[in-house]
Amino acid sequence: MSEATEFRAEVAAWLADNCPAGARGPGQIPNGSTKITLEPDVAQWLAAMVEKGWTAPTWPKEYGGGGLSAGQAKILFEEMGEIGARSPLMGMGTSMIGPTLLEYGTEEQKQQHLPKIARGEFQWCQGYSEPNAGSDLAALKTRAIDNGDHYLITGQKIWTSGAATADWMFILVRTDPDAPKHEGISFMMLPMDQAGVTTKPIRLISGSSPFCETFLDDAVAQKSDLVGELNKGWTVGKRLLQFERSGIGGLTGGARAANPGATLVRIAKQYIGEEQGKIADPAMRRTILDMNMQRAAFQYTAQRANEENKSGIPGAATSIFKLVGAGLQRDGADLKREIMGFRGLGAHEEVGFNADELKATEEFLHLRTTTIYGGSNEIQSNIIAKRVLGLPE
Ligand SMILES: Cc1cc2nc3c(=O)[nH]c(=O)nc-3n(C[C@H](O)[C@H](O)[C@H](O)COP(=O)(O)OP(=O)(O)OC[C@H]3O[C@@H](n4cnc5c(N)ncnc54)[C@H](O)[C@@H]3O)c2cc1C
Repeated sequence: MSEATEFRAEVAAWLADNCPAGARGPGQIPNGSTKITLEPDVAQWLAAMVEKGWTAPTWPKEYGGGGLSAGQAKILFEEMGEIGARSPLMGMGTSMIGPTLLEYGTEEQKQQHLPKIARGEFQWCQGYSEPNAGSDLAALKTRAIDNGDHYLITGQKIWTSGAATADWMFILVRTDPDAPKHEGISFMMLPMDQAGVTTKPIRLISGSSPFCETFLDDAVAQKSDLVGELNKGWTVGKRLLQFERSGIGGLTGGARAANPGATLVRIAKQYIGEEQGKIADPAMRRTILDMNMQRAAFQYTAQRANEENKSGIPGAATSIFKLVGAGLQRDGADLKREIMGFRGLGAHEEVGFNADELKATEEFLHLRTTTIYGGSNEIQSNIIAKRVLGLPE
């Protein structure tokens, strides 16, 4: 038996014993927030995975990770997908600030923050966008002023996802207003529960409030929480965006509970009809085939890029995966809604829409946003033109 086969068997056996029924299929996924109560099975699943270091499987063991190779982590995610196990922990801790600290943090910062992130002790949020700094992020104006052993931060952030329940924020601030705009920016971390931080949820048409305006009024960040050098935060902030984009684009792993291609076929047979085991409408059969081939090609390309790139997540090329991956996710959701007809636009269980239909509506609405956050499609195209293809501006 090969090492990989042996590892797969061990993982499958461990998951069967340790993933409770209430942590399989759709449902609650912890994000580390101290303000959100976990269901008992979800808490048990998180604790078991923390014990193995598998909430951050490829991080070194000394920082709370599992010390797995990329190949072993892939096996873990595949086996989780086999039994419908949910991710034990998600959010900006493990996917964005954690990998950034591994590259840019001091040893002290790694020791202080990474084990807590891997244990899901805190939820993190991202203080990048401002009312006049979105695509042009380097136009940000939030100021941090040196005040002895700490900085005092004043300004406003916007679209801060999860800020209302987050415990910590990583933030880009201006520390030298006289320097050229990319050169006077620093990257810091600060606790959210302090007098200088106020969050105001932004209510959407759906009634939910996934993100906030965040007001900073002499908020305190310790000097020990400056990541990288003072005024060199643009480099750190851009690297974090590459981790964010690789997650959105599907370059980094995660449990893949459902096979989206098979789901489309199942739904089409159900809503359009079936003849001799095939989707009844040949045109729709062709459309679904095209979509599934594009998805498969994308998945193999992502796998190849990961295998070729021994040093971890690639640089500017992550923009290609973000652009194409977000587009495919959006188009897949559009197609699912099209197959379902008006039933793919249901908003309420009470008026007779089933779980598949409600999910289709939610995906149709949500997957528009993946083409915006982490940098819009147009911005990804600009980066690919400039940094990957080397085209003139
Ligand atoms: C669901 C969601 C969650 C988010 N979460 C966070 C978060 O947690 N933290 C955070 O800091 N931010 C967050 N954002 C904000 C996000 O990063 C910004 O919305 C995004 O960067 C675009 O900025 P903007 O909204 O200011 O749009 P603008 O920059 O005003 O852009 C408007 C339009 O102009 C286009 N455009 C702008 N400049 C150019 C150019 N140079 N070339 C071509 N086209 C251009 C854009 O593509 C876009 O279509 C979130 C956004 C969404 C939708």
